Parts: sequence; structure tokens; C-alpha cells
Amino acid sequence: MCRAYEDFIGWKIMIAIRNCMIVDPIKGPKSYKQDVIIEEDKILDIINSDSSISYESEIDIEGRLLFPGLIDIHSHFREPGQTYKESIETGSNAAAKGGFTTVVVMPNTLPPLDSVLNIARIESSINSSKIRVYLAPSITNKRDGSSLVDINAILSNFESMIFGFSDDGDFVQNGEIIKQALVKLDGKFPIMEHCEDLGIEYKNGTINHGKLSKKYNQIGRPVKAELNAVIRDLKLAKESNGWIHIQHVSTKEAIDQINNAKSDGINVTTEVTPHHIFLNENELIDNLDPTFKVNPPLRTQEDMQYCLKALKSGVIDVIATDHAPHSREDKIGKFIECQSGISWLENAFGLVSERLGYKIACQKMSYNPGKFFQNLGLNIGLIEKGYQADFFIIEDRNWNLESQKIESKSSNYIFKHGNGDLVNLRGKPILTFSSGKEVYNSGEVKSGNYA
Ligand SMILES: [Zn+2]
Repeated sequence: MCRAYEDFIGWKIMIAIRNCMIVDPIKGPKSYKQDVIIEEDKILDIINSDSSISYESEIDIEGRLLFPGLIDIHSHFREPGQTYKESIETGSNAAAKGGFTTVVVMPNTLPPLDSVLNIARIESSINSSKIRVYLAPSITNKRDGSSLVDINAILSNFESMIFGFSDDGDFVQNGEIIKQALVKLDGKFPIMEHCEDLGIEYKNGTINHGKLSKKYNQIGRPVKAELNAVIRDLKLAKESNGWIHIQHVSTKEAIDQINNAKSDGINVTTEVTPHHIFLNENELIDNLDPTFKVNPPLRTQEDMQYCLKALKSGVIDVIATDHAPHSREDKIGKFIECQSGISWLENAFGLVSERLGYKIACQKMSYNPGKFFQNLGLNIGLIEKGYQADFFIIEDRNWNLESQKIESKSSNYIFKHGNGDLVNLRGKPILTFSSGKEVYNSGEVKSGNYA
């Protein structure tokens, strides 16, 4: 006998995603099929698939993998001011296509997101975004390092949009400002710091300090710039009991400091980018290709391996993409003059899965970053009863990112290796749901009859 699930649950809008192999952060893909029942924006229930139950609205994904929505706590959407590179709308489209359902955007916009007035410029774009977009307003006014923003005013107007505060792109030299901010935020929101204390000497550095800077006779960005900045911030976090989040860590020395601080009970978290775990300075050894110009720079092979090891062991909490869209003009010409950054939202998942597998991708791109949002009363990063209905369906096969098909306004993705071979990706997102709504559909799954 067929029974409708709706018969005994009630009248709210429900959708069932049927015959899912759910990916879990502890076990990886499960070996049996389940149905995920969504009510409005949340997961109402998960039950073992049973063909005797029928649902009014359903999508049968026929045993494909269902993955918790990815969370990127470090992206650049360039709005306001540089929407020729990306906007909140195009960045969200790229995110949804790549499996991301929550993104935190950085404040190095024009003008920077440093005040109630400037944040209000993007309020409606954020509210109409198809995925969840959080902000990291700047720590300092004009993002120039000289005075603390009005944290109280920003939080009283926009608290529900804020994840943390960051001057990303620059290190805040004045430790007193960071300490005041840490005290004020009291561990609820992180101070997210771009830890490179370059001073005047290394300010214009473009590549890793060492064999590369020597070979090309250019100013390098040294390990000690990252190390000194991390040491200072860990000390401030300890003194203030605040939450310090170290952005895009890239060196062995800094990771060792963070590891020790965690053992000492300091409230520190950290992230690493896909480029710092999969690429190193040898990409630039024969040719200064602007594709690989990033801040902090690609480091040595040993640093890269150490980052990967620290990610696996848990010293590094999450992978964050640092999705940094730039126009073609910004990324061509002389290495020393071109812009830094790589776009990642549409292929980060595929690359992490190809190199490290689905379980680690789930832990480091969904589950662990999801834990950061519990402070804000949001349950994301896991497919479980009561969590937000954020997930994506993947086709478990190899694929490549095609430059003609990207959603981002900028195309500074890494499509090929140096030898011209396409970069292999694993697991193609084909249908994405954010808060119970379809936000991307490649057309490969029949949507069925649902609202
Ligand atoms: Zn940065």
C-alpha cells in the first residue's frame, strides 16, 4: 500500500530527495540509500529509502551522492566598486554551481566595507542573493590600519549578516587596534587576519623570498613576515580571550606556532587555500606566470606538504578558497604589476575531492567551517535532521572546468597544468539546494514536480 508522507506530517511545503547516498564527514559516502525530507528551509527527517512511501513533491537522484553544502569563509565578490570583476550576484551563481551554499565575503571593495553607510550599499544585493552571503567588514576605517571601525554601530545595524571582521589583503600593524577589537567581539565573532607583517622592506614583494626572489632579482615575501604576524596575533588573542582566525596560512613555522597555541588553549582557528596545499613556488621556476601570483605567495614544496599534513591532522581547521576574481587585463602583462589572486569557487571542490577524496572534502569544506556558525545560531555543514536544507548532488566522475562555461565574471581559474594538460577534477556538482531552494541545476537531474 502506498502512503503519502504528507498524510502524517502536516501541510507545510515539503520536498523529498529520494535514493541519496549521503556523504558524511566521519565515514565518507554511506553505503545505503536514504530519503531526505525537507520542510521549508530545513531538513525535517532522513529515512531509509522505501519504495512503499510516496511523496507529493520529490526528486529521485537514483543513488547519486548527496553532499552537505560547501562553506567558504574567504571569498572576494568585489561589490561595491569593481563589479566588472565580480558582483554578489555573479559570485553567488559561481558558488552555487561549485556546490557552495554559504560564503563569507571580504571587505577590500571600493569603498571598503568599513561603516554602516558602506555596508548599506550592498544590503539589498546580499538579501536577494540565492545563497547565504555573510560579510567580514573591515577592522579599520578605510581599511588603512589607522583606527578601529565602529563595531557597535555595524553590529547593531547588520548583526545577522556578519561573520567576523578582517582587513584582508593587509596586516593591521597596530596591535592595540586588534586587541580592542578582540575584546569588543568577546569570542563571538572572529578577527580574521591576513598575517603578513611586510613592513617597508618587503611591502612590494611579489614572490616567495628565497630561490625565486634571487633568480628573478625581485623583492620576496619572507617566511618571517608571516611568522612574526602570527606570533603577535596569538599573543593578543591570549591576552584578550578573543577569537583570532589566521587567514590563508602558508608556512611551516606559522603552523607550528598555531599548533602550540591550540595546545595552550588559545582561541585560534585557521584556514588554508587550495593553492597552498596543491601548488608551490616551482610553478614559477621557468616562467613568471601571472596566474600563480597570490598573497601570501606560493611557498616551497616543503611548506606545501606541511600545510597538507596540518590540514589532515586538524591543526588547520578548514579549506577556504580566497576566490579572487580579476579581469583579463588585471592578470596579463608584467608579473610585478599584475593583480594577485586565483578564482576558485567553481572547481575547488572537484580538485580537493580528486586529490584528497570526498571524506576530507566534506570535513574541511562543509563540516568544520559549519561549526564556526554555531555561535551565530545556524546549523549548517551536515546533512542531518534540524540542519538547514543546504546540499548538492554530485555525479561521481572525472571532469574538467571549461572556460566557456563559467558563471564567474572573471576567468582567472587554473584550467591547465604548466605542460598544457587539463586539471583533473572529481565529482561534478549537478544540482544545488540552499535553504531548501534549488539554486543551481545543470540539467542532468530531472527536477520532478516540486515547488
Ligand atoms: Zn588575504
